[in-house]
Amino acid sequence: MTEKLHIVGGGMAGSEAAWQAAEMGVQVVLHEMRPKVETFAHRTGNLGEMVCSNSFRSDDDEQNAVGLLHWEMRAANSLIMQSAKKHRLPAGGALAVDRDPFAQTITDILTAHPNVAISYEEVTELPDQGQWIFATGPLTSETLGAAIQAETGADRLAFFDAIAPIVYAESIDMSVAWMQSRYDKGETEEEQKAYLNCPMTKDEYETFIDALLAADKTEFHEGETAKYFDGCLPIEVMAERGRETLRFGPMKPVGLTNIHKPDEKAYAVVQLRRDNALGTLFNIVGFQTKMKYGAQTDVFKMIPGLQDASFARLGGIHRNTFLNSPTLLDSQMRMRSKPNIRFAGQVTGVEGYVESASMGLLAGRMAAGELLGTPLTDVPQDSAHGALIHHITGGAEAKTFQPMNVNFGLFRPIDGLKGGRRGRKDRYKAYTDRAKTAWSEWLDPSNEPALLAD
Ligand SMILES: Cc1cc2nc3c(=O)[nH]c(=O)nc-3n(C[C@H](O)[C@H](O)[C@H](O)COP(=O)(O)OP(=O)(O)OC[C@H]3O[C@@H](n4cnc5c(N)ncnc54)[C@H](O)[C@@H]3O)c2cc1C
Repeated sequence: MTEKLHIVGGGMAGSEAAWQAAEMGVQVVLHEMRPKVETFAHRTGNLGEMVCSNSFRSDDDEQNAVGLLHWEMRAANSLIMQSAKKHRLPAGGALAVDRDPFAQTITDILTAHPNVAISYEEVTELPDQGQWIFATGPLTSETLGAAIQAETGADRLAFFDAIAPIVYAESIDMSVAWMQSRYDKGETEEEQKAYLNCPMTKDEYETFIDALLAADKTEFHEGETAKYFDGCLPIEVMAERGRETLRFGPMKPVGLTNIHKPDEKAYAVVQLRRDNALGTLFNIVGFQTKMKYGAQTDVFKMIPGLQDASFARLGGIHRNTFLNSPTLLDSQMRMRSKPNIRFAGQVTGVEGYVESASMGLLAGRMAAGELLGTPLTDVPQDSAHGALIHHITGGAEAKTFQPMNVNFGLFRPIDGLKGGRRGRKDRYKAYTDRAKTAWSEWLDPSNEPALLAD
């Protein structure tokens, strides 16, 4: 086997992909543009640099989906997890690291690896030949971004995310909310009941607007520009433009009848739309926001029906280059129009260090398997890696696709388990047990899960 694997971007995803493929015996060329070409967020020329927080979030592999991803990555001999273990800092139940030595270790290990060559150059196009993984992250260079857009079409590569909060369906109070599309539009009953509606009285609306205006907001980082304002206003900016703006925008109460109080006309209605094929997650339509996370939960829980809501993710607007993966990538993360090219990491529409590294882990193994003539089977959907890759390459709604953290809402429900808050502990334990078995079998059907986790 002489063909090399080219990986573009030496961040969380590219570093992990290079390590996985190299460990499988494939020759890798890792292309990283830093330090020659800089981004506004990176500070060094190191591989695996953490651009902001130094935390990989919860390390609880029984009750937390990101902790489960850690477990699966460790079972798969992850370089990111090895370096995190070496440079771990005390942080309660979270996995936090000393960021500079963490990245230095990754850089040293890959530099010394006999199967890895590192080229410190910017890559500016999508090649027609060879096996490539593009893991260029949320701050993909401008020239490459333009080349990707030329291949995908301008509407399939975004430069900002505009994330509306996502709520676990089971936490919505259906004695207050009801399912109905405006004017009952749609051919089928499913279409006619596609939206979940939360009604507000005039008093509730006025109080909500006050809270929105008073809430703490985050600022853009230096170097980030706010081009998003053209298409996707944060709700608090809409509220600043006039107290009635939301009532004539995403919260307009028209075409809807409250099934719980058919004679009462709502003053405003918040709508939620299904966010995944499983129907376990709903996003609040048009509620992209730059409110701080703490403020978001306080403000959104004021919405009738969402008073006990659990959020799979909160809203945000960031500089973030990402593909419309559900339409562009196949289940092996290959571009449908150019199958010699895979994408990995945040650019595929996952969000966060761990999720990005885990997509790098998969892409590295998949590309190496293909080059070695032993292509991998699809990742089991019941593992955390599988839930995430399934979401971005098909499970998510393509039309409203926005970056996603790993969370239990992406997992297939298990029959017979109690829903709601009460059953949560048992449910999460059952999801993580099932995931560990599925992942271990996928990695190596002959291994016992307990042995792999050590
Ligand atoms: C300002 C900011 C703050 C963030 N804070 C957090 C946080 O606190 N926690 C968190 O979990 N996530 C955070 N994120 C998201 C974070 O960036 C990702 O989770 C993670 O770094 C993505 O990994 P990645 O490998 O996909 O991209 P990156 O880690 O960004 O790696 C991509 C690499 O590709 C290189 N590159 C880009 N274009 C080219 C090119 N054309 N040729 C060669 N190389 C190229 C870049 O230099 C970079 O090294 C933040 C993102 C931003 C922008």
